[in-house]
Amino acid sequence: MSRVLAIHAHPDDVEILAGGTMALLRRAGHTVTIATMSAGDCGSADRSAEEISGMRRKEAKAAAGLIGADYRWCGFFDLAIFNDDVSRRRVTEVLRVTRPDIVVTASPVDYMADHENTSALVKDACFAAPAALYATGSPQPANALISIPHLYYMDPLTGRYPDETDAIRDFCVDVGEVFATKQAMLANHVSQREWLRRHHGMDDYMLQMETSTRSSGETSGFQFGECFRQYRGHPYPQTPLLQDLLGVAIKVIPNKGST
Ligand SMILES: [Zn+2]
Repeated sequence: MSRVLAIHAHPDDVEILAGGTMALLRRAGHTVTIATMSAGDCGSADRSAEEISGMRRKEAKAAAGLIGADYRWCGFFDLAIFNDDVSRRRVTEVLRVTRPDIVVTASPVDYMADHENTSALVKDACFAAPAALYATGSPQPANALISIPHLYYMDPLTGRYPDETDAIRDFCVDVGEVFATKQAMLANHVSQREWLRRHHGMDDYMLQMETSTRSSGETSGFQFGECFRQYRGHPYPQTPLLQDLLGVAIKVIPNKGST
């Protein structure tokens, strides 16, 4: 059995972009941790940052709990995720504690800096985690990893880059069988739904997720899908470990994969 860490910037990002895939992996008996860099402390118009981040941590934990996954907050704050020395050490410690074989993170190009900086931090933390002399500064540091984990990128939030080009994708996962679970996971994020209604003018959070999951599935003839890209930069693992774990649920998207 493998250990999978799905780590993105904010509570709900993983559920929207990879919740079905995480449900499939759990169903197959793999260990899944869902981590968010921030706890969503800016996502309210009428509650304190402390109050809303506490609520959102509970919502994220409940969402992860639906599939038997753990939830972890990495201690960052909204709009304050930067690719710097202290942050890289902190993310490296998260990797050393969770000890994943597979890491799935944010697209390197997306609509906001928190997402892009998360992507860069996680990529470099994967590289740093096996370097035993790289100290994380944790009071009780975990041991270095044995090797660099397999690294995958989720889609950007809309499935397209901000310049309107299509996201680069290597394969699509058929999440039709677990789509109801994915919906139930996202439905736990009650406070975020309210915030998006006010701040983004988004009437129906759930419908938006359904539309984007349907659209991703269309790339591969699935009713509902989630697409991913494997990072194959030197010296990251090249073998298709996540694809192999998902087996027949995936369809490779031709001529799109690259580093
Ligand atoms: Zn986000």
